[in-house]
Amino acid sequence: MISFETQVFDVDHILGPDGLVASGMRDYEHRPGQVAMSQAIMRSFETSRHLLAEAGTGTGKSFAYLTCAIFKAIENNCRVLVSTHTINLQEQLINKDLPFLAKVLPWEFNANIAKGRSNYICLRRFKFAKDAGATLFDGENSEMQLLAKWVKTTDDGSLSSIPFVPSPKTWEAVQSEHGNCKGRKCPSFRECFYMKARRSLETSNIIVANHALLFSDLVLKKQNGMGIIPDYAYIIVDEAHNIEQVAEQHIGINLSSSRIAYTLNGLFNSGKNTGLLKITGQSELCPLVDDCRKSSELFFQSAEDWIKQQGQSFSGRCPANFIEDTLSPALRALRIKLNSQAGKLDEEDDNRFELGRYVEILKDYEDAVSSFIKRPAEDDGFIYWLEYKAGRFARINLRSAPLEVGPHLQDFLYKPFPSIIATSATLSCGGEKGFDYLAGRIGLNDYDSIQLDSHFDYKNQVKVYIETALPEPNSFEFTKAAADKTLQYIKMTQGRAFVLFTSYRMLDEFADKLRGPLEDMGIQLLCQGSSIDRTTLLKEFVNDTQSVLFGTESFWQGVDVPGESLSNVIIVKLPFAVPSRPLIQGKIEQIRKKGGNPFNEFQLPSAIIKFKQGFGRLIRKKSDKGIVAILDSRIITKYYGRLFLKAIPECTVEQIRS
Ligand code: SF4
Repeated sequence: MISFETQVFDVDHILGPDGLVASGMRDYEHRPGQVAMSQAIMRSFETSRHLLAEAGTGTGKSFAYLTCAIFKAIENNCRVLVSTHTINLQEQLINKDLPFLAKVLPWEFNANIAKGRSNYICLRRFKFAKDAGATLFDGENSEMQLLAKWVKTTDDGSLSSIPFVPSPKTWEAVQSEHGNCKGRKCPSFRECFYMKARRSLETSNIIVANHALLFSDLVLKKQNGMGIIPDYAYIIVDEAHNIEQVAEQHIGINLSSSRIAYTLNGLFNSGKNTGLLKITGQSELCPLVDDCRKSSELFFQSAEDWIKQQGQSFSGRCPANFIEDTLSPALRALRIKLNSQAGKLDEEDDNRFELGRYVEILKDYEDAVSSFIKRPAEDDGFIYWLEYKAGRFARINLRSAPLEVGPHLQDFLYKPFPSIIATSATLSCGGEKGFDYLAGRIGLNDYDSIQLDSHFDYKNQVKVYIETALPEPNSFEFTKAAADKTLQYIKMTQGRAFVLFTSYRMLDEFADKLRGPLEDMGIQLLCQGSSIDRTTLLKEFVNDTQSVLFGTESFWQGVDVPGESLSNVIIVKLPFAVPSRPLIQGKIEQIRKKGGNPFNEFQLPSAIIKFKQGFGRLIRKKSDKGIVAILDSRIITKYYGRLFLKAIPECTVEQIRS
């Protein structure tokens, strides 16, 4: 039973110096920003207002919002959903922060993590795949034997608890899926891991999820009233600076030639004479799969020919009907036939469910291809482009994304929910109207905001060096001069540096120049984009405290390396988005069309937010100290440079003039 003793949310009693949190924490520090944030969140809940809350690193924002969320969930007997972008933060909330609060707060509450359905093994499909064996997997599949051992001992049946990483092919054959679930009629219903997880969410007060799952859930609920997660009354979005990007990925098309080939091979692989149709005994459909495969190959061949015709002028973008849509009719023909064959099978037949799964997938592909080629309207607010990787195994990806996610978010996020709390260490570009940029990009028109300084003493913890005499970053001479300076700064801290780039091309050029000198100094160079994946790269960087990491894109944010391993952040170029990328290009054109100024309204503010994120990698705890070196002289020589400096916390700055 949930007991609810305190009817008023007394923030001092909870987060104050003599409060409940302080009483349970040995190294408690009073953080006025945390208290202010908590008050602002509770006010937003009470007044049904949306809130943008920027809280610098070290504010203790997770306790600020979790305490409010727990109180509100119990007071209103409802669920509160907390969404994050990174798995690290989800784990921190679920494994550390929420268990701690459960100990010190006087309220009993349940908190659970919501994972996408495909994260759980489906016991029925697992048995089906095991029985089908080599016919399904193009030969023996040793991973199935390992899964069989794991499934006997696992508590939660989720992908993250498997002691090895199964191949996508194996996991897709056994994962839990909505359209492929027998529900109560399933013989494994009682033991089903997904159903158990779902039941625990039903009884949760706090649900922790990631942004992608949140958006999937909201879209499904909007479309048919049935989502993935049990209903919740309030949403707190942490790491909210990623909302626009996640929404873009979620709302648009992303379908590759290899994905279609992979799916068709799953149905029937003519080369190996394997696939689902061989198991279900419906070999008469195999020629139809072959026809569809041929149509797919011809379709993507036409797209490749079209790309080659464009020559140097190929930007990625493609107009409506740039080639004939010969693929979606073939997908439709196959889907209809499969559906009718599935309909002839017994209602409880496993084969019927497996075929039904392909019917759904083919329908998604068919819709994606058709709307990519034909486009619903000339100017439908989306941008369409092709990603192309040339070579013997050429790969083409059909992509689309909305130019503005705002109208979509208004529809399924801001209107249905009275109070959305969006927080991050980087939401504002600085100044009085600092939140306008992000709010505009995510379509949040009516909101309150609060900006809380970091708890850290940046003046004493960070020294910023600005190279004012280096050539402009777009000039030919920049790379050599900046690489020399990079080496100089790396020497200052004996390695322990993050070097942040805006393109892989420049990262590779610097790596070529500096690999030798760093080797001579006994410093390991780790590069993003090499054969090592991002997580392993980061682990190695933390373990080898002297190493240097060259990163781009994802390393500007969400990387948390406290302690001596990271004492130096080198920002090679101000992080303006590459204007030749189709999505960026589309946004620029759209602002221009509306009579706006794309540089001031989009390119500059988005670069400032990314710059703040890069800067924020350095100081992760109170005892951290280090330097930030900025090699882009435009931060001093251009009129807009001061806006970058104004957006970061006040610290000691030295301009290097030679
Ligand atoms: S209930 Fe559904 S998800 Fe669970 S084992 Fe059965 S078919 Fe799979």
